[in-house]
Amino acid sequence: MQGNKFWNEELETLSRGRLEELQLRSLQEELAHAYANSPYYKRAWDEAGVHPDDVKTLGDLTKFPFIDKKTQRDTQGVGSFLGELAAVPEEDVVFVSTSSGSTGVPTLSPFTAQDFDEFQETEARLFWQAGLRPNDRYVHALNFALYVGGPDVIGAQRTGALCIWAGAIPSERLLFILKTYQPTVIWTSPSYIIALGEKALQSGIDPKKDLSIKKIIVAGEMGGSIGATRQAITDIWGAELYDFYGLSDIFGACAAHCEYHDGLHIAEEHIYVETVDLSTGELLPPGERGELVYTTLRKKARPIIRFRTGDIGRIDLTPCKCGRTHGRIFVDGRKDDMFIVSAVNVYPSDIEYVIRALPEISNEYTIRIFEENYTCKYEVNVENVTEQTDDKIRELVINALKARIGVKPAIVNVLPGGTLERSTHKAKRVIDQRTETVAKLQGDGI
Ligand SMILES: [Zn+2]
Repeated sequence: MQGNKFWNEELETLSRGRLEELQLRSLQEELAHAYANSPYYKRAWDEAGVHPDDVKTLGDLTKFPFIDKKTQRDTQGVGSFLGELAAVPEEDVVFVSTSSGSTGVPTLSPFTAQDFDEFQETEARLFWQAGLRPNDRYVHALNFALYVGGPDVIGAQRTGALCIWAGAIPSERLLFILKTYQPTVIWTSPSYIIALGEKALQSGIDPKKDLSIKKIIVAGEMGGSIGATRQAITDIWGAELYDFYGLSDIFGACAAHCEYHDGLHIAEEHIYVETVDLSTGELLPPGERGELVYTTLRKKARPIIRFRTGDIGRIDLTPCKCGRTHGRIFVDGRKDDMFIVSAVNVYPSDIEYVIRALPEISNEYTIRIFEENYTCKYEVNVENVTEQTDDKIRELVINALKARIGVKPAIVNVLPGGTLERSTHKAKRVIDQRTETVAKLQGDGI
């Protein structure tokens, strides 16, 4: 097994035609199950005048209404503990995770025993795709408390790797683990792996020389696919970086890099991906940038049908050099995070790209979005790590942002290195001070 390139070669290399046949069969079953057992879907589809029997092709799914986070919140706890989207009785559910609640009330995500087993089988495949092997020592440094990424460690273990269930522990203890047990693979958030690397250097540990980390898996933030952030992490750690992407509503990881790092292969036998226009909700052809909409194809506890994720990106269905045929997603940012300055759509990930590419400033930054006379502006706070004057650094940052994004920041505060707070997990870098009126005006743009 150790030497095999694929975890499940037949599934991973199915022709597009066969993959879509499999998706259609699963979709028909999933819709029938949802209609028969979920009070919400039955009501919503009856109202919309659609029925699972109407689905003869994958494209027929566009007749069905969308759901979103608000649907989940509104139906949670209604009628039963699991709410109206659930399609099994509570006794069939063995696990629940919750969303982080970063954009409102946390929502429950239930799994049956079979859902959970298929979740871990998918995780094992994505870990294998990222190169995890039985002779690796893997440190799972993700939160275990209610977080859907926690159980991913079971999938890692399924590959045969030696797994260290670290969880969210203080940096000193994590560095102790890295130094004492010399693991070869670690998973954290992009911000945290940078902060951890800095902490290691401060305590006299050079991650490149004194530790054995060969691969770093990151998820939860955009950085893992931003070239400059990838470079910043590689510079400190000297390790290969793999970006993973998960959704509490589906799996801890739904998609992951392969060795070519050109988009994230999504588990298409479980998730049907549509890309839709942000404003009109109309289906866009594969490859075009829009809002990613997911439909689960096999989940029994709570089927997710046409879920608008709020993630902006695209899917590439062309073959990858690695030989895997499952489509690759590219996520550019969150709809909620986007703001508009002088009619230009700005994503915090674009700002991050610029900042991480400038060696004169540290990797830490914050962005404040504010308004003046109903006009949206942004401020950037960075740290000067050179002997150059703050004015020089300010000019450099302004010019770089103007060149990449098209609009200058209204304010750039240049601070001494080490001033900004180092995050432990999901970094809170964007402070949005727009009033509701202006934020709403901007909400449907692109
Ligand atoms: Zn690939």
